[in-house]
Amino acid sequence: MKTEIKCPFCNPDISITSFSESQNFWAIYDIAPILPGHSLIIPKRHIKSIQELSTEQFDEFFQFGREVTKKLSLFFKTDAFDWIIQENEEAGQSIPHLHLHIILRTKDDLPNAGDWYSVLKNKNKEEVVDSENRPRFSIDELTNIAKKLKDAFVELDKEKSNT
Ligand SMILES: [Zn+2]
Repeated sequence: MKTEIKCPFCNPDISITSFSESQNFWAIYDIAPILPGHSLIIPKRHIKSIQELSTEQFDEFFQFGREVTKKLSLFFKTDAFDWIIQENEEAGQSIPHLHLHIILRTKDDLPNAGDWYSVLKNKNKEEVVDSENRPRFSIDELTNIAKKLKDAFVELDKEKSNT
């Protein structure tokens, strides 16, 4: 196997900053969220494309993504969201490790509903990360967010099993 360029999603810190996991996937909070709740589902294994998932993993990816989205929706109190997968640089994939963006939406959060693309496209360029609206979290901050979400998810699971 050829040596990969250092991948931020293959960092050992991922297990600390993840707030939910399935057998083959992590849920993590975006390090520079474009909107509150912006999270990612990523495979634990370094793969670039959705085409590299087996049928079972494909199912697991979307089942897990749906479950995480549901809980995030309850936590952030909105049912609106965008799911985005960008395959290859031409489509805007900035990190060559498959990731599903879960971007929770609320009324008038962006000037136009479709503005997520330009915001996502620009957020990795240092110069446009404006610290006020799109903070870049430290590992400690991400760990704290993950802990809050993890606790909230445990509560939601309890509520679900009580009904
Ligand atoms: Zn990776």
